[in-house]
Amino acid sequence: MLDLLKRYYGYDHFRPLQEEIISNVLAGNDSLVIMPTGGGKSLCYQLPALRLEGITLVVSPLIALMKDQVDGLKGNGVEAEFINSTLPYEDMVRIRGEALRGKIKILYVSPERLALEGFQSLLKSLNVSLVAVDEAHCISEWGHDFRPDYRGLGALRRSMPDVPFIALTATATHRVRDDIVTQLGLQNPQRFVASFNRANLNYEVRPKRNSFGQLVELLESRKSQSAIIYCFSRKETEELAADLQGLGLKARPYHAGKDADARRRTQEEFIAGEFPIVVATIAFGMGIDKPDVRLVAHYSLPKSLEGYYQETGRAGRDGLASDCVLFYSYSDKSRQEFFINRIEDDVERKKASDKLTQVIDYCQLQTCRRRYLLEYFGDETVSNDAFPNNCKGCDICLSPREEFDATIIAQKILSAIIRTGERFGIAHVGAVLLGSKRKKVLELGHDSLSVYGIVNDLDRNEIREIAGQLVAEGLLYRNSGEYATVGVTDAGRRFLRERKTLTLSRPKRAEQPRRKRVERTETLNDELFERLRRLRLGIARELEVPAFVVFNDATLRDMAKRIPRSREEFAQVSGVGTVKLQQFGDRFMAGIQQYLKEHPDATKIERSPNSDHPRTSAKRAVSREGSTYSQTRELLNQGMSASQVAHRRGLSIGTIVSHVEMMVSNGIDVALEPSLPRTDRMVVIEAALDQAGGPEAKLSTVYENVGDDITYEDIRIVKAHRAQSNGKSH
Ligand code: ADP
Ligand code: MG
Repeated sequence: MLDLLKRYYGYDHFRPLQEEIISNVLAGNDSLVIMPTGGGKSLCYQLPALRLEGITLVVSPLIALMKDQVDGLKGNGVEAEFINSTLPYEDMVRIRGEALRGKIKILYVSPERLALEGFQSLLKSLNVSLVAVDEAHCISEWGHDFRPDYRGLGALRRSMPDVPFIALTATATHRVRDDIVTQLGLQNPQRFVASFNRANLNYEVRPKRNSFGQLVELLESRKSQSAIIYCFSRKETEELAADLQGLGLKARPYHAGKDADARRRTQEEFIAGEFPIVVATIAFGMGIDKPDVRLVAHYSLPKSLEGYYQETGRAGRDGLASDCVLFYSYSDKSRQEFFINRIEDDVERKKASDKLTQVIDYCQLQTCRRRYLLEYFGDETVSNDAFPNNCKGCDICLSPREEFDATIIAQKILSAIIRTGERFGIAHVGAVLLGSKRKKVLELGHDSLSVYGIVNDLDRNEIREIAGQLVAEGLLYRNSGEYATVGVTDAGRRFLRERKTLTLSRPKRAEQPRRKRVERTETLNDELFERLRRLRLGIARELEVPAFVVFNDATLRDMAKRIPRSREEFAQVSGVGTVKLQQFGDRFMAGIQQYLKEHPDATKIERSPNSDHPRTSAKRAVSREGSTYSQTRELLNQGMSASQVAHRRGLSIGTIVSHVEMMVSNGIDVALEPSLPRTDRMVVIEAALDQAGGPEAKLSTVYENVGDDITYEDIRIVKAHRAQSNGKSH
């Protein structure tokens, strides 16, 4: 077999499972092959085809690909042909003849051709030794790409009971797997499930802010390497491709609205490396065999995780490091929901909506994305405890980590393991801690344990990750064996008995929502307050006076809130007169500086303004929940553009922009990137602003100096955005 592999393909080794699958096929058995895109499925039927006597039939829905595949095989010296609707009549006749004379080893056929009577009668006279059904998920309505024509394959199976069948797909949840077996009527198929882990792919989700700029950066940093960018709509692919071309990047759009010829040309030239960037809808790339795609970017949300996984699977087939970047925004989610809500069939609508929810969950993960994807696809390798806690290939695992006090959660996990008898895996222990109603938990009566449901601030992935660290800390051990159960070590028992403390690390959380930041500010103020109290105590001891003689608590509170950095500011603190300023000012300010140095993130504490400070009332107006400003701010910060906000709120764009201006001039942070005009317009506006005097520029002057396609609001937004970034850098 290795001989054939070397001879026809030039490869020295089989990839995982290929050899086992080939042996099973040659033994005359049915097979179901689940392997990720790029895993090497084709070889699993092509190599047996070379060994078998008769002809191998390959059913595939990918008409556009058949020619490539067949050309490739021919190039390797294999007698292969294809029959589909694109084939001229003369070729059809020729191939028929050759097939009948036994001159063809591998014949690709599209499912609709297969169904035609002409082909059926040809089949009867052929010596078929193997049938391969590629992209087999197309037979299942539960898959993401159902093809009614595939249903006819069940009849084909019944008409050739003695011919082995092999069904192959890259997408299979358990439900789809079972459905393939049933619909196709496979006979006791052996199932081969390869690991779906694509170790060379790096997964990343980014908030969709200034996504165009980010995308350009991604592409430019990759020079002329190949990239596929997936968009939501045909129009979007056209526009984005045009914008990229405008910057000198060689990009071309691809979508189902283009005629077949243009599509084929684009695909061929992309594969040939004549241009590096395709901006496409999902119509592009079903199984394209381009080994060196270095970047797959989803400029809009994918509709399902199955689709996402398959699309990202087109990156890095050659095994070299490649990136998958998904831009996520709230407004994309709403856009998809809009379309989903228009699906009339209740079942279909629910299905689509569930799929979207899974995509959103994926985007919002705080734990390893790779693990999540693999678990979703039922990949057994992740349940294996050898799977690393840190995959080192997703934005979560690669993000900076922070230490946290893990004493309590460690106590909870260890106790739960002991209470359940140290006979279960961490998945079960996690389920108990989370108060899961899953059958196993209830049947074992674990819902009546004192540890049931005592964790509510973590999810199962986070618990798993912490448990992994507890193993590394030597507090837990894993039993190797059929079931990976966990137990508590002696050190773990001592940890519980002696009430020791434990610090572990976790990924630094993504930027906290506003509310949390306020809480954080408060705890920082509290810490500083405590520090100031200690300082006061020291001074009081030195001077041998009671502490309140130095400053009272209210003064220290105010000081901790205002964080004075100069004598002027210090004098403003309530309870600080001239004498005390002279006597203690420098020492307390030194103490504050010291604290800020030790807690660099505390410099971001919002210093509390004076009550007579002009900003205060505006700030209050914005922070008052439900105020018109805060509503605008909320939506902008979710990633909407000003015009989307205007649309959503039923207000004019001018009003929204005036909200923005008010907030920016009062130093209130608001996300403006999505509202910025396209880069080419930005350039023009920036230049006009500079020319007209920068921050002092009169809008009307700027307006007169820019093109017709630029609105007043565009200029105002750019100006506000500038003011905001200047404010930040100073
Ligand atoms: P799939 O159909 O599973 O997406 P393919 O069959 O198209 O994947 O194979 C993907 C790539 O991997 C192809 O370029 C193929 O030539 C290559 N490949 C397959 N098997 C091997 C192997 N044993 N060694 C090296 N390369 C292989
Ligand atoms: Mg394939």
